[in-house]
Amino acid sequence: MPNYQLPIINPSTTLRANHQSPITNHQLPDVSVVVPIKDEVESLPLLLEAISSTLTANELSYEIICVDDGSSDGSAEFLKEQAQIRTDLKAVILRRNYGQTAAMSAGFNYATAKVIVTLDADLQNDPADIPMLLAKLEEGYDLVSGWRQNRQDGAVNRLLPSKIANWLIRGATSVYIHDYGCSLKAYRAELVADMNLYGELHRFLPALAYIEGARITEIPVSHHARRFGQSKYGISRTFRVLMDLLTILFMKKFLTRPMHVFGLLGLISMVSGLGIAIYLTFLKLVWAEMIGNRPLLILAVLLLVTGVQLFCFGLLAELLMRTYHESQGRPIYRVREVVAKNVK
Ligand code: UDP
Ligand code: MG
Repeated sequence: MPNYQLPIINPSTTLRANHQSPITNHQLPDVSVVVPIKDEVESLPLLLEAISSTLTANELSYEIICVDDGSSDGSAEFLKEQAQIRTDLKAVILRRNYGQTAAMSAGFNYATAKVIVTLDADLQNDPADIPMLLAKLEEGYDLVSGWRQNRQDGAVNRLLPSKIANWLIRGATSVYIHDYGCSLKAYRAELVADMNLYGELHRFLPALAYIEGARITEIPVSHHARRFGQSKYGISRTFRVLMDLLTILFMKKFLTRPMHVFGLLGLISMVSGLGIAIYLTFLKLVWAEMIGNRPLLILAVLLLVTGVQLFCFGLLAELLMRTYHESQGRPIYRVREVVAKNVK
């Protein structure tokens, strides 16, 4: 028996295996195309047609997993009806609107292929680019991201915030791609099975993948203006992206060692508080000065209290981090492969 560690079975992998593909009867498709959908009924017929014609022309077997994220324009009804007719479509209807990240995550759980492609339902991404992404993935990458070189969105409210966000994310995450916001991406399924998505973290999938040790690259893809309906996001997403960025930054650097950041901050705060307090004590005892009315006294107390709190917070974070990893059987590392010639 080899004595190295066996791969941990992730709950979502098990879920996957239980969902037999209705399409190929026992044989898994080459690719699962995951599409999150909120009110896109006009685009759907064209989208399904575009995906199936491209993939069929490239002789790829596929399944389309359309996740309806609480649409109110009849998208869900259309999908359910189509799923009765088409053999290449799985319609997953969520009970309410949970947001794009949750919709994508649901799609990942119902995908059965070894390769997953995600794209938007609004026809802004071009399904004709999928084979190109798959070919790139075959070169040995775990994630291939689309790069909308010729982006068709408003300049001020979309392109500028996106440029700044991309610049910040690039600096913060050390994943050097141009366009984090592009939904058109191809992944190895085992990569997304390992990732837990929350909030609006779908934008940070490359960064999360990087934390999981993935090999990431990008290729230019086409981009079109929205033909129907409106974007589901406004300028307010900029703030949410910034907050998510902080989360990712923390996770990337300190997920397994929160005490290193909180402990350090606590220590700095406590030492400076203590320094000021000693100085004030010296003034009072040696020079017999009044210190009760000095703002410095308040600062000293504030720094000391904050320091102790940060310290305790760090300890709690350490406990939480251990619970996070150990309760889910999540090792703190990811093995790409194990090669051994002679293992006893
Ligand atoms: N979407 C979703 N749930 C939401 C918001 C959006 O499933 O709560 C889907 C939407 O239908 C589209 C994709 O996510 O397929 C991207 O949304 P959108 O095109 O509005 O974003 P943008 O391209 O403007 O960034
Ligand atoms: Mg869009």
